[in-house]
Amino acid sequence: MIEYRNLRVALLGGGSVGAQVARLLLEQKEELANRVGASLELVGILVRDLDAERTVDLPRELFTTDAESLILGADVVIELMGGLEPARSYILMAINSGADVVTANKALLATHGPELFAAADQVGAQLNYEAAVAGAIPIVRPLRDSLGGDRVNRILGIVNGTTNFILDRMDTDGDTLEEALRLATDLGYAEADPTADIGGYDAAQKAAILASLAFHTNVPLESVHREGITSVTPAQIESARKAGYVVKLLAICERLVDAETGTEGVSARVYPAMVHRSHPLASVHGANNAVFVEAEAAGSLMFYGAGAGGVETASAVLGDLVSLARRHIAGGPGVAASSHAELPVFSINSITTRYAVTLEVTDEPGVLATLAGVFSDHGVSLALVEQSMTPAQPGTASHAAVSSTATLVIGTHEATEAALAATVRDLAENKFVTNVASVLRVEGV
Ligand code: NAP
Repeated sequence: MIEYRNLRVALLGGGSVGAQVARLLLEQKEELANRVGASLELVGILVRDLDAERTVDLPRELFTTDAESLILGADVVIELMGGLEPARSYILMAINSGADVVTANKALLATHGPELFAAADQVGAQLNYEAAVAGAIPIVRPLRDSLGGDRVNRILGIVNGTTNFILDRMDTDGDTLEEALRLATDLGYAEADPTADIGGYDAAQKAAILASLAFHTNVPLESVHREGITSVTPAQIESARKAGYVVKLLAICERLVDAETGTEGVSARVYPAMVHRSHPLASVHGANNAVFVEAEAAGSLMFYGAGAGGVETASAVLGDLVSLARRHIAGGPGVAASSHAELPVFSINSITTRYAVTLEVTDEPGVLATLAGVFSDHGVSLALVEQSMTPAQPGTASHAAVSSTATLVIGTHEATEAALAATVRDLAENKFVTNVASVLRVEGV
């Protein structure tokens, strides 16, 4: 066997992902050494509880609760604990002691990314984070390296597996949100407290990371507009299906020009939106993730696969480790995070999108013309109107008043949030409208 130089690897966290990384590091030691040109020696695994039961059988002597000794004795530190603190302090300690770092911690990067990247740049350390967005799917390195010579204009991502599973069940099996969430919890896709997923917080963290990377601009988490899936109803899913669409929770990162000032900027936002069934993102089922990238020269690209899971995510972590270890032994500084573009981040009010508005209306002559007038009053032009009749039940109040009601699905051309909100306010007060059943944005066109 070839005698390689030794790189000491410290693992912070031995949970779902950490235990799999440890197992693979031990099982594939020789193979990895041949690929890297250095031996990757796992020197310890930081945990809270030394006696906790582990799903993977790992040598007991590797586990420790002494963070400082472990970090200061390592060439490479892999942070897989999660949370903001002490993960942030431990990563800074590692960087300042001359180690390179791999992390999968999206919450930490979305919140303290600039501080950590600046610390790494200052000492020429590497900070890799492929697993922080979309688990096993290679997307960070493709954006940073492979598309580093291109200009990314837009990213549409399904980056949260739990919400995709729920929306997919609602679409394909007719589940309510509560039923689909219960199943997701039973199958282990959803946490006991599902707020981070269904509230869109997890997707917003990933949107902040992707937008920062794609547009070479620091996009803070607070500037990401966020809506979760909690108000998505079976009626909206059904109405989208009838119109040839599916509802997906999207993380959207876009390069834009402000219509009034002509200033170039970017937008990052997360909300449930209608995607046409012919779009590649519509066929992302179950708990899978996909990231659809539109770049100036490369055109449209889609990255698809498992967005979570201990062993799947461990693959991305090990990829980061191999890449970083090769550079470590070659010497020289790491790839600096680039935020030179410093583009302004636009608020949701500057965004234009298409909308689908579903209205329940009384079926009388002149209704369509009147409602079209409400849209036009606010400068919102119509792209499509579909109508289905709902005969009123004999004996009901509505039967006495009119012969039937109708459901109208009105698709708009691009409109601003403000214009659409004003339109919907007026529609709700219109005498022909009995209910504004749904307002959803339409994306991917
Ligand atoms: P996990 O199963 O909860 O494991 C966390 C590990 O960190 C545990 O071993 C825990 O020790 C240890 N730990 C936590 N706080 C600690 C502290 N203060 N001091 C010492 N040890 C501490 O988490 P995970 O699912 O593996 O996720 C790890 C990271 O990967 C997170 O940032 C997560 O967002 C990211 N990620 C996870 C997935 C996934 O599918 N799971 C996918 C993509 C990214 P004990 O075992 O003693 O409790």
